[in-house]
Amino acid sequence: MAYEKVWANDEKLSKEEIHKLKKDGLDILNDIDRYAKEGFASIPQEDWGHFKWAGLYLQKPKEAGYFMMRVNIPTGIITNEQAIALANIGKDYGRDVIDITTRQAIQYHWLTIEQLPDIYRRLGEVGLSSIGACGDIPRTIVGNPLAGIDRNELMDTREIVNDVYHFFQRNSDFSNLPRKFKMSISSNTQNAGHDLINCLAFTPAAKVIDGEEKIGFHVKVGGGLSAKPYLAEELDVFVLPEDVKDVAIAITTVYRDYGYREKRHRARLKFLVADWGKDKFREKLIEVYGKELPTKGEDKIENWNAGYFYGVHPQKQEGLSYAGFNVPVGRMDSEQLLQLADVAKRYGNGEIRTCNSQNVVIPNVPNDKVEELLAEPVFEKITIQPNSFIGYSVSCTGIEYCNLALVETKEKTRRLAEYLDEHIQLDVPVRIHMVGCPNSCGQRQIADVGLQGVLMKTKEAGMVEAFEIYVGGTLEKDHAQFNEKLKGRVKAEDLESVLKNLFAFFKEEKVVGEDFYNF
Ligand code: SF4
Repeated sequence: MAYEKVWANDEKLSKEEIHKLKKDGLDILNDIDRYAKEGFASIPQEDWGHFKWAGLYLQKPKEAGYFMMRVNIPTGIITNEQAIALANIGKDYGRDVIDITTRQAIQYHWLTIEQLPDIYRRLGEVGLSSIGACGDIPRTIVGNPLAGIDRNELMDTREIVNDVYHFFQRNSDFSNLPRKFKMSISSNTQNAGHDLINCLAFTPAAKVIDGEEKIGFHVKVGGGLSAKPYLAEELDVFVLPEDVKDVAIAITTVYRDYGYREKRHRARLKFLVADWGKDKFREKLIEVYGKELPTKGEDKIENWNAGYFYGVHPQKQEGLSYAGFNVPVGRMDSEQLLQLADVAKRYGNGEIRTCNSQNVVIPNVPNDKVEELLAEPVFEKITIQPNSFIGYSVSCTGIEYCNLALVETKEKTRRLAEYLDEHIQLDVPVRIHMVGCPNSCGQRQIADVGLQGVLMKTKEAGMVEAFEIYVGGTLEKDHAQFNEKLKGRVKAEDLESVLKNLFAFFKEEKVVGEDFYNF
């Protein structure tokens, strides 16, 4: 792959681009051991941003020298030894805080430069990596957390995900993309991979080719959230399983070579797709791919489960079940993860699966062991049938650790959901997503109720934390839309009572079984 082609657009480069030309993001990996020996003060400030390629962000305030680390969990599958290693890293180095992200990854906080070599060693020993979890590079691949056990999947996507993930891991041909590049690969008919909000999504499809029905994928490009969100566009192509990697490489190449590099906020693939349109994008894809692809077949997505799998469900393997549990706002301590690993080993095959909804699934439990599993003490807090609000609340990292945050989010979301559960009982779940800034890591736009943190000037107290409220987001098939902003802002201290009134009204006016989107 010709690295020089990166500047095909022949445009002016942003200052970040110029810095990336002087030092590739992945080159930071050569420096970490030295910086660990010499201490945080030895790291020049121009290198701080490059730590992203190693899966690390400096926490707030940056000068304090603490890192947040994101570990890739492709399609959300964690083996037992990986779960134990992740829990022990959290215990030994991460002050016991372990977060599940909205891209099925695991996040730590409070790491120091001195600890990184040992953390990398421990991750490497169990086949995990944080490299490429952040930075202008293909990120961890999201997908179906039930891959391989799912009665709602056309095919097991584990091998494809791993193949694509390992191709892009530490691949210097693709370590200087215009910005982050998010992929989803799923064959789940309930759209567990959140197709429409990814830069590139492979979704379940079928097509008759030469008289035989083939299972494969459709392709969507140019989705993304942040301040200017776009739903992905479907290209007129059908991709066979064996071609997924090459198509992913071709699309990433188009982005690398034609994506915008002049203004950072315009550098995502979604802007190129919006400007070109899907037909021109398809043409360029075929040119780079080097041969024609079949046109679209039959879309096999039936609906959208929003990444929730609560309860006990039969697997495609006779006699086995999986159980979906709620991790409130995706935050665990190390002991809880160790306990999950322990019960997963004793009742299942040891695996834990992470979901886009920041929750977990324990797979491969023999049906006659399910009752015993559910009686384990760890499931008093990580519950199988959570209440309507806490069970469907998602939160980004927020001001505790994130440099871009305007408000605190995690604790606020948990308290808000618990308050609402105490005061309002609904017969349907309501998905609430809270984010601390417009970057929307907590995927505010696809929530029934999205809460976006802002700072608001008040007469009595000066600047205070406040929220914009957005309603009506969904990725439901044929109705996908981002939520819309309600007028005004609400002070953080008034959020509970305002939302209580909103949901009380909803409860009173709705018909039985009616959900928030259809209200
Ligand atoms: Fe930080 Fe904003 Fe992302 Fe929240 S949405 S984690 S505040 S960048």
